[in-house]
Amino acid sequence: MVSEVLSGLLVKILESKGKTRDFVLREFDKKLFRAIVENNPKRRPRRVQEYKYFMLMSMLWSVLRNIDRGIISHEYLKRAVQTLVNGALLGNKEQEDANRKFKEQYGTAPPAFVVISPTMACNLHCKGCYAASHSGARFNLSYSIVKRILQEIHDFWGARFAVISGGEPMMYKSDGKTILDIFNEFSDMFFLMYTNGTLIDEEKARRMAALGNITPAISVEGYEKETDERRGKGVYKKVLQAFENLRKYGVPFGVSITATRHNAELLIEPEFYDFYFDEQGISYMWIFQYMPIGRGIDTQLMPTPEQRLKMLERWEVCLKEERRFVADFWNSGIVSDGCIAYGRPGGYLYIDWNGNIMPCVFVPYYVDNIKEIFAAGKTINDALFSEFFKKGREWQLRYGYEYGAQPGNWFMPCSIRDHYDNFKRHIASMVKPEDENAKVALEDPSYHKAMVEYDEK
Ligand code: SF4
Repeated sequence: MVSEVLSGLLVKILESKGKTRDFVLREFDKKLFRAIVENNPKRRPRRVQEYKYFMLMSMLWSVLRNIDRGIISHEYLKRAVQTLVNGALLGNKEQEDANRKFKEQYGTAPPAFVVISPTMACNLHCKGCYAASHSGARFNLSYSIVKRILQEIHDFWGARFAVISGGEPMMYKSDGKTILDIFNEFSDMFFLMYTNGTLIDEEKARRMAALGNITPAISVEGYEKETDERRGKGVYKKVLQAFENLRKYGVPFGVSITATRHNAELLIEPEFYDFYFDEQGISYMWIFQYMPIGRGIDTQLMPTPEQRLKMLERWEVCLKEERRFVADFWNSGIVSDGCIAYGRPGGYLYIDWNGNIMPCVFVPYYVDNIKEIFAAGKTINDALFSEFFKKGREWQLRYGYEYGAQPGNWFMPCSIRDHYDNFKRHIASMVKPEDENAKVALEDPSYHKAMVEYDEK
């Protein structure tokens, strides 16, 4: 939790201009560095703390640049300060109370957020979709279930942040409500929504601006050629139109990219970042290195270890020199003290369109189902203490979360991709696969071999 002094300064920075802002910004910068790097309460390695400091400052710089360009509206900013800054980032009394109560009851701190995919339906049919979504998919979580999940994490965990994924969330409909109605209902929470962007027309962008508690992360695969190749002809043009609509109404947005062996080289070119940050006005970029799950599993698509290293070097330049807010999953595992899955303190869990509760979007296995949990009179907290989740958290602790000064290699943080043998032997016993693809992967010896070979390289 950032201190009250820092939170006060941050609000001032976002609300001021010119020399006043420069002055407050310098003060904030110094104090943030002291709090994270010098004071370092958990005694993490200094380099780990430096990454965290650069990450936070690059987030701030990316937003400030877009405020100055006039593509984040004042109306949006006012709302976002209330929700994202005062709620999701800094915390308030209500959240502290929830956190304390949770610790008293369970002897550990709660997770910070959930990722929910309320629908499997999607208007596209992308190659290698991690969710294997398509337009014919009809699986949906009902509005009342989505609402109850969010209400519980809000009340029991003090959470003020949630991620919506899919399927395509803009296709979600239940009881006459859409995903924007959810955002409206939880106006003191902030939402990040992964979307293909093709359904963000002017009216949707205008509504998002008025809501002020949602930022869309739009999927691209590179430029037009790479995006249309995977997502379908004409998709990239629609994405650029969505960018324009969001700029027009002042909604900050980002892009989300799957890094594969084929596009990894593109992601280390400086021009790529110039184009999206400077020309298109994104406020953040999430890079997800391909995870062999979902439709058309292919372990050979994972970026090679050499490419992964080059991407790490490029990420450092983005943060430290260009001050651009980029997260590269999994190279950026260092800023979250490693893997954040399995409902770890400050981490998250994932719930799909069937209600299955998974440790992570990229770990397609489960034990509990939220609809069954609610029907049995239990709460989301009960799902945190399955053997599956407990074993995952135990591994996280052993791998370094517990050992402040001497963690494992957090550049290889992933419980499933970077440590597959351990995952299969020690974490994933007695689990159910989310779908047929996950079942095949778990049972296939050649998949096991390919994953282990990758980890050992
Ligand atoms: S399991 Fe892997 S992808 Fe999921 S949170 Fe952990 S490190 Fe990230």
